[in-house]
Amino acid sequence: MFGHFGVLTLLGVMTWLSGCCSTPLTQSLQRFEFKQPHMGTLFTITLYAPDEVRARNGADAAFAKIAALDRMMTDYDPESELMQLSRKPVGDPVTVSDELFDILQQSQRVAELSDGAFDVTIGPVVRQWRRTRRTGILPAPEALARLRSAVGWQKLKLDPRNKTVTLTVPEMQLDLGGIAKGYAADQALAVLKGQGLPRALVAASGDIAVGEPPPGKRNWRVAVGKLDGKDGQPARILFLNHAAVSTSGDAEQFVEIGGQRYSHIIDPRTGVGLTERLQVTVIGRRATDTDAFATATSVLGVERGVALLESQPDLAGIFVRKNGGDSKIFRTKRSY
Ligand code: AMP
Ligand code: MG
Repeated sequence: MFGHFGVLTLLGVMTWLSGCCSTPLTQSLQRFEFKQPHMGTLFTITLYAPDEVRARNGADAAFAKIAALDRMMTDYDPESELMQLSRKPVGDPVTVSDELFDILQQSQRVAELSDGAFDVTIGPVVRQWRRTRRTGILPAPEALARLRSAVGWQKLKLDPRNKTVTLTVPEMQLDLGGIAKGYAADQALAVLKGQGLPRALVAASGDIAVGEPPPGKRNWRVAVGKLDGKDGQPARILFLNHAAVSTSGDAEQFVEIGGQRYSHIIDPRTGVGLTERLQVTVIGRRATDTDAFATATSVLGVERGVALLESQPDLAGIFVRKNGGDSKIFRTKRSY
């Protein structure tokens, strides 16, 4: 299904009109690749452009957008818009930028659909687990219970009419780490399209957004997941256009204490990092969705995760559950 997104691409139209297999316009496009670090990872932009100047200008504009979103949403800078919001008096509606409101609204939608498995109010607990990663000391259950009193997606109120955000209990701290990279990839792709460069791919480690395919091709070839881990299975190749894919879980970021591995993805119901070895790849139309749903379904596990993805019109998923040296693969019914 996803391989056929936007089948009538620019190339398809032109090929049909000329009755030939390529055109002077697409022939003259060259491939360019640019990399920049943002949001604690490396963003890669691959695009097709008529010349290097056009390519570089487009990539610069796209990276500038990503950098602006990073400055807005980072929880490492106390002055970011997100961090300033967390310091406002409890119960006061705060007017935020359109983009911050947009990403919070999309976050809340996934929170509701996933019954709170995805929860951007998880901040206080994420911070605790960052400390745990440094110290190697597990948080006491009472400490986690205290932190969790400031967690819960329903404690975050959005007013779409006035574009205000209200944090309703003390000590709340928002964390957009589960959705920001996908959102930034979508926005960067939109900037490139606006610059006349629709044949582009934006990748931020596990989150990838693709626009129109390379010249003369129907799709981008996107390798996902680390299914080639211990089991020696090949990485999966997806063929995508006008689509997005995100992989979460079975983390590069984890802490191991007393022989137990805790993921950087937290189950909001317990405040504890996931211990099940699960890697989820979600495919959809927008990286904002695939990013958030990949994090959400990592928390939900295979059965509930598959059901959630199948309840959505445009999403598909691959779940790899690892158990010792073995891994078992589960897929949604929807194909791609
Ligand atoms: P991802 O790599 O997209 O799965 O996002 C993982 C990041 O999302 C973590 O490093 C945290 O910053 C944040 N996070 C952890 N647990 C959750 C959760 N249950 N819901 C939303 N965000 C989370
Ligand atoms: Mg995510």
